[in-house]
Amino acid sequence: MTTHRVLIVEDEPKLAALLQDYLQKSGFSTHIIADGLQVIDWIKTSSPDLLLLDLMLPGRDGIELCREIRTFSHLPIIMVTARVEEIDRLLGLELGADDYICKPYSPREVVARVKAIFRRQSYLSVAQTDNSQIFVIDIERYQIQFQQHRLDLTPAEFRLLHLLIQHPAKVYSRAQLLDHLYEDNRIVTDRTVDTHIKNLRKKLAEIRPDFEIIQSIYGVGYKLELPVEY
Ligand code: CA
Repeated sequence: MTTHRVLIVEDEPKLAALLQDYLQKSGFSTHIIADGLQVIDWIKTSSPDLLLLDLMLPGRDGIELCREIRTFSHLPIIMVTARVEEIDRLLGLELGADDYICKPYSPREVVARVKAIFRRQSYLSVAQTDNSQIFVIDIERYQIQFQQHRLDLTPAEFRLLHLLIQHPAKVYSRAQLLDHLYEDNRIVTDRTVDTHIKNLRKKLAEIRPDFEIIQSIYGVGYKLELPVEY
């Protein structure tokens, strides 16, 4: 089982340390950032699995950060605010956060919410695919089954296919797919995406040679299409 990495963005050192302590005891690995200006870069280079985001921060506030993160990532975000009445306003802003917690909170409650999101996440992706019975995703093991056959995927292929499966028929540009390819910040080009797609198609075609599951949209990118019987 892989260890989930939680990024704690909190400018009160004692609170951050307390959260870190509880999350680590629950088996998560953590990283703390106190300055709003450092958050985006860290997320882009380190790809955490979940973000605990304080609303009031030096540098950039949580609202602004949440908005920007949603332009490039589906990273689960729990927003933390010091005032209950803020939560209504935050919900109204449709920031795309996954959950909201009000200070003062018990660290136990935070851990429970974090766990709930990870549970929901792995359940969701299986449920989505179970509907169509064509793909079953095992996030913990980085495995995908296609029509009951296990695909032998590289980590990059797993990420690409996983993303495409989330929204069948949605067209992804090469740049969007590139963002999901690697956890580190290596230099890659559009060609890299094409190569991975080519290899993925080959693996899918071994199971389903009569139908092009990953379709090219000329000049734009790729989308996943399911055969009519699904
Ligand atoms: Ca704060």
